[in-house]
Amino acid sequence: MQTLEALTRDALALGRGEFVPTHQTTAQTDEVARVMTICNACRYCEGFCAVFPAMTRRLDFTPADAHYLANLCHNCGACLHACQYAPPHEFAVNVPRAMAQVRLTTYADHAWPPAFGRLYQRSGLTVALALAGGLALFLVMVLAMTGGLWHAPMAGNFYALFPHNLLVGMFAPVFGWAVLALAMGVRRFWRGVSPGATSGAAVAEATHDALRLKYLGGGHGQGCNDADDRFTLWRRRWHHATFYGFMLCFVSTSVATLYHYALGLQAPYPLTSLPVVLGTLGGIGLLVGPAGLLWLNLRRDPLHGDPAQRPMDRGFIALLFLVSLTGLALLVGRDTGTMAALLAVHLGVVMALFATLPYGKFAHGVYRVAALLKNAVEKRQPNTLGLGGD
Ligand code: SF4
Ligand code: SF4
Repeated sequence: MQTLEALTRDALALGRGEFVPTHQTTAQTDEVARVMTICNACRYCEGFCAVFPAMTRRLDFTPADAHYLANLCHNCGACLHACQYAPPHEFAVNVPRAMAQVRLTTYADHAWPPAFGRLYQRSGLTVALALAGGLALFLVMVLAMTGGLWHAPMAGNFYALFPHNLLVGMFAPVFGWAVLALAMGVRRFWRGVSPGATSGAAVAEATHDALRLKYLGGGHGQGCNDADDRFTLWRRRWHHATFYGFMLCFVSTSVATLYHYALGLQAPYPLTSLPVVLGTLGGIGLLVGPAGLLWLNLRRDPLHGDPAQRPMDRGFIALLFLVSLTGLALLVGRDTGTMAALLAVHLGVVMALFATLPYGKFAHGVYRVAALLKNAVEKRQPNTLGLGGD
């Protein structure tokens, strides 16, 4: 049920051509509206993260507001541990859980194609491991049937087993699909939250906040809560290792592509070459980061977030870890007779990661960046309530 204030705001946004009403009221958005209404009266947590200042710019909370605020929340747990109205209080205010439950509906509601939104409920650890194992086994069997599984050392010449054009033909469509599906989803989300005019300063602020994971600092720089009332920076550190590890691997692949097409230099590249050095550093980050995140995930306070989404979290973490583990194992074994088997397993795991990117936990990164940008834009607009705020 929307109030007059919300309807007026939506009508004004519609008049500016900014509003596309894609969000429906659900039990999850109603719960965010309920807890935000209590928080708006309390405001104790105003300095913790971007959610609370954004909340103060509203008197009530439409479904679109709930989706925006939910993706602005980093599930740091600080407001739950600080809250005098948290369970077992009868108000049962659990902001991180309410936000987490809406986030899942954000991913599902905006999925492209829409029918694939259901996949978010099924993207658990079992599915991730089964897909990775199945694809790896398929490639191992292909090599075994063509007599290429066990061989004399080939000095890391992957293309003797899987020609370059075959690999491009296998991976480019799957990766391209993932990018397209996520872009279409976040585009609908962006239009639905009526973002306003984007400026260079807003983009710079959102980029800075995303790259530094500012809101995992807990508002005071000591970190967020994880297993208990103590603050910890480890969640931020493991996230950074994972993100920058992923990016270094991406840059390594991009540099290798440049070597191949622009410079005519064919893989395998020496251990001291730029693609191998970047890939090795990225692989180490992508090994320790997910291992740390899994460790934190296993000991997390059960009141944090949405326990029903833990299989999705763990499935994504496991795939990242396995991509890195098999990639580093391939690097170590590339000059031995096990290279074919190691390569087949690595390619299978990478394919499983790419295939599940748009319908699993990876989505949280792109929607969160969009919410941070919306927040940076909104902060630069006049506060029409005039009752305080940021
Ligand atoms: S989470 Fe609790 S303490 Fe924090 S603003 Fe909301 S009601 Fe107040
Ligand atoms: S869990 Fe953390 S990021 Fe989310 S609303 Fe609470 S303080 Fe903000």
